[in-house]
Amino acid sequence: MKSKYSSYYINDIAKGCKYCVKGEKLVLFISGKCSRNCYYCSLSNKRKNKDVVWLNERICKNPKDAIKEALESNATSAGITGGDPFLYLERTLSYAKALKKRFGKNFHIHIYLPTKLLTKDKLKKLSRYIDEIRFHPEFLINKNKKIINEDLNKIKLASLFWKKQNIGIELPMIPDRKKDILDFIIKISHYMGFANFNEFELSETNCKPLTKNYILNEGGYTIKGSKQAGIWLLKELKKRKIKINLHLCTAELKNNYQFMNRLKRHNIFKFGYKTKEGMVKYLTTDIKNKYKLNKLKIKEYYIDKEKNRIILSNYSANRLLSNKNSKIKIYLIEEFPTYDRIETEKGEIKTSKKQWATTP
Ligand code: SF4
Repeated sequence: MKSKYSSYYINDIAKGCKYCVKGEKLVLFISGKCSRNCYYCSLSNKRKNKDVVWLNERICKNPKDAIKEALESNATSAGITGGDPFLYLERTLSYAKALKKRFGKNFHIHIYLPTKLLTKDKLKKLSRYIDEIRFHPEFLINKNKKIINEDLNKIKLASLFWKKQNIGIELPMIPDRKKDILDFIIKISHYMGFANFNEFELSETNCKPLTKNYILNEGGYTIKGSKQAGIWLLKELKKRKIKINLHLCTAELKNNYQFMNRLKRHNIFKFGYKTKEGMVKYLTTDIKNKYKLNKLKIKEYYIDKEKNRIILSNYSANRLLSNKNSKIKIYLIEEFPTYDRIETEKGEIKTSKKQWATTP
């Protein structure tokens, strides 16, 4: 069944995904170091193999930064990813604990975990703060039959600490491995409540092996046949009466819902305008014009110290533009509301306009 978020599902989608599609999840990237080296790993060069914590687009030094980012992005929940969080278990626990302490036990936290370093003891520790657990099994990179059994036995351990509906697996939907994935889910379905399949995507780091072995869809970053393989898998599992929640998460969902909705929820500065895509527009002038603004008795503005600029209200901008003697340059800027605040457009404006930008 197609969801209203351009994804496909059977039965229902996992609780963590419900927060995620609405842009309510804080993405806590615990480290770029990993216990594995999957050929399809899509981590960017900026993150892969670097022991740095990221909170959405923000480099994070400690759990206090995580609280700040959660507040600025109005998150109601978090998803912990990596790398391999098992390599940094104490760090993972300290961030999860801090988020629960500040936002309460209803602040939903899910985690992605490669199975390689999984032990009962580590799961027990995680279960104190983690609501939902998503395993990334090893069998996709290691065809040894023993590995499948190891994966199965490790995943079964989770039922000692979580209810079935909060245990799942998450995998890239590799089209030529659809039968192996089907067999694996049939074997493990009694011990978990959901399975998530991500449309297979190209990134700057997996580009070589993927372009060598697969054809790309038009648009250039998703693998041909991945979505179709996912739909096939959903249908096969339904035919076999597998009762767990199944979700095929598409690239379209990630861009048009998860990411865009997260942008829309993000705080912006005073006098800014949000676009319907979640971007923000500001009317700005250089911070060195502050003295001139005061002299001209312009009062509606906000000083953005980090970017050395003054954000003007529509009214202030128009007053300056209609004053031929002011000689103050004003720019209309469009940028991401996120911590990195990357500008996507900047143009000088020279004539006044009733309303430069509006929030839809
Ligand atoms: S387990 Fe995940 S993070 Fe680690 S290499 Fe594989 S895909 Fe990348």
